[in-house]
Amino acid sequence: MLRLERVSKFYSNNGMVSTGFSKVDLEFFIGEFVAITGESGSGKSTLLNVISGLDSFEEGEMYIMDQPTSGFSAEDLERYRKEYIGNIFQTFNLINSYTVYQNVELVLLMCGCNKGIIPGKVREIIEKVGLSGYERTKASKLSGGQKQRVAIARALARETPIIVADEPTGNLDSKSAAEIMKLLYRLSEDKLIIIVTHNYDQVEPYVTRKITMHDGKVAEDKRLTDIDESRAEVLKRSFCGDLRTGETDELAFSDMARLGFRNAFNIPAKFLLLFAVFVFLCTGVIGEYGAVMNMNELVTGQGYNNFFVNTEKNRILVSKEDGSVFSDSDYNKLETLGNVERIVRNDLMLDENFYLTDDLEEGEFYTLCKTEELDIAQRDLEEGRMPENSREAVLLIPKVGYAAGVTGEMMEKDSWLIDQNTGSKILKDKLKVVGYGFLDEEEEKTLGDNGYYFEAYLCVGDESLSSIRKADLEKYCRQELFVGGYILDLETSAGFYLASSDKVPEGEIYLPEEAAVYLEGNAVGAEVELTNKSLYFTDTRNFTVGAVYNRETLKDRLDMENYEEISGGIFINPDDYERFFDKGNFQSSVIVTDEMMAEETRNRIEEMGYRAFCVRDGLVSYSGGLEVIPLAMFTVILAAILLVMFFVTYFIIKLILKSRNVYFSTIRMLGATKKNCSSLLKTELFVVFNLAFLFCIVIAVLISEKIIDIDLLNMMTAYLSLKDYVILYGVLCLMSLLLAGRYARQLFRQTAMNAYKEEV
Ligand code: ADP
Ligand code: MG
Repeated sequence: MLRLERVSKFYSNNGMVSTGFSKVDLEFFIGEFVAITGESGSGKSTLLNVISGLDSFEEGEMYIMDQPTSGFSAEDLERYRKEYIGNIFQTFNLINSYTVYQNVELVLLMCGCNKGIIPGKVREIIEKVGLSGYERTKASKLSGGQKQRVAIARALARETPIIVADEPTGNLDSKSAAEIMKLLYRLSEDKLIIIVTHNYDQVEPYVTRKITMHDGKVAEDKRLTDIDESRAEVLKRSFCGDLRTGETDELAFSDMARLGFRNAFNIPAKFLLLFAVFVFLCTGVIGEYGAVMNMNELVTGQGYNNFFVNTEKNRILVSKEDGSVFSDSDYNKLETLGNVERIVRNDLMLDENFYLTDDLEEGEFYTLCKTEELDIAQRDLEEGRMPENSREAVLLIPKVGYAAGVTGEMMEKDSWLIDQNTGSKILKDKLKVVGYGFLDEEEEKTLGDNGYYFEAYLCVGDESLSSIRKADLEKYCRQELFVGGYILDLETSAGFYLASSDKVPEGEIYLPEEAAVYLEGNAVGAEVELTNKSLYFTDTRNFTVGAVYNRETLKDRLDMENYEEISGGIFINPDDYERFFDKGNFQSSVIVTDEMMAEETRNRIEEMGYRAFCVRDGLVSYSGGLEVIPLAMFTVILAAILLVMFFVTYFIIKLILKSRNVYFSTIRMLGATKKNCSSLLKTELFVVFNLAFLFCIVIAVLISEKIIDIDLLNMMTAYLSLKDYVILYGVLCLMSLLLAGRYARQLFRQTAMNAYKEEV
């Protein structure tokens, strides 16, 4: 069965060579119960390790089933151990966190044993070693004698022809020791049993052969019972097989998953530590990703736009496909969109900057305002009341600052609403501020948007808003006068402009002399066409020239004095004028509730048949694109931090897994292949990682649902979408598998025995 020819084993430590044993000649047969004795240091353990393939030898040859083994590869040796050797150790080497049942089951799983028969077989073996009733007891809770019984059960489960036991009773009291020896003897039929012991008396009743070692040499080899060589030969044949071509059994996937799960949880402290590390990794990576997105948003969210004052992310500009005016049914349709906070009908006001002053020349106050609808002002006012007519307004102001200082004074006077850009009055009549309230934090932030520094929200009723809109529209319209075959573009033709005067009767138009010349003397009574154009409409009306004025006739015709200021004015009746500009809303804004979803909402509005535009998308950066440089630097720094985090996690995980070395050396001892160990470890880490990731996702959901409300966390998760989480999951998953793979490779850099000696 097993034959050693002049085998020697040397150890070299720092150049010092010591001898484990030398020139040993021995032959073992199936059916033998061999005891190896000798004083400490005589080479017994070393001999046993070489026999069981745990250790290599330097000299001579060892034959297993008549095959020489000096040329065996590590895999060949592992296979030999797995199929031929059952080890029993002084220190038991059970998986302490497993139950008795699980310890025995593990062996059968490693052997690729048929799943269906495992439970029955495990019970049978447990009964054989006298541990029935202890199946569910954890190995760590057993007495020494019981532990050794489990170890024996484990060796039996493998059904190997050879069982080697190194001082199996060394840690036991004499009573348990005697029982264990008896048990081994009972099970020794049809097997080769080799026991190392320095207490020969214990085994004496059972042994068939006694080998005494002394100083690395076999001092005595005494057969006590004759062996039945022909029977040994028959038995040997039943184990016959070519060791070097045998196939290794692989763990079935389901068993692997089951073991991986078991390993993930069976040591609570280790589980919690790993869990914490993975949560750290996940939150770290998610947080950094969030920070990059946040920075990106900060950088690209800065800029200006020549057309829009309000460039908040939640604003979607909507107009109709055919350029017509919005009707109530349009607004009703838009209301049903979802993600709509409100609809600003008088959308133009969002892009105006007006100021309020009591006097154009020497105003005592001068407050720059954002116009808003009255609804916005619904809150407890600090002073005063809500407006009751079109001449009244409410201010919303920050608690501190300029506006807080002057608002009281404003309420005592009437104010002009002035267009900041043109300096002209917007409303015919002065406004009265009848109350004020304070802005909340969010609202206060919007005062500084897009480079403007507003001091207050001016909230007015619908009637005032439409007056403001009309005044606004004038800015965006241009007029053309078709006169005597010529077209005068009032915007580009020097000095001409459209104005109103109640001196002009409806349907008539008063021209300055400079315009009347196109009619060649027959001006009065002539028909002219006036066109008012905007982005959305072209409105043409006919007028009869009622009068022509010049410096001298200005007073008479229009009752005006200052010709220098007036000159070039083309006058029509105020009601006619009004008709040109009282057009309703061609443009409205949808203010969304969730600005992250603005793009989606925009698409839906387009699907409904409108034109829609996210105002934020129209920003031009201040620096002409240079802001991507800090963003790139920021990203690089974060990538570096990520890398560092990866290695920190790797080392922490490595430290935690150190405690797993015993486990992995033990299962290697039981025949696990490199692939098995690596997959087991991967499964284990994968399970813990997934739980940690799930945990982080739950936290993220709680944050987004505002159940947890911490500013920093909000910032971290605000810009992450489902897609981002999927990507992060993939990256982190890969990371944890890489970690496991690396670690498993390291485990196998050592031979099984070295790993074992180091750990046990
Ligand atoms: P025993 O089991 O009979 O007490 P061992 O087989 O453990 O003896 O040791 C035999 C000899 O080999 C001893 O002299 C011991 O010092 C030496 N030895 C054992 N293991 C090592 C090792 N890993 N490195 C160096 N020397 C060793
Ligand atoms: Mg020893």
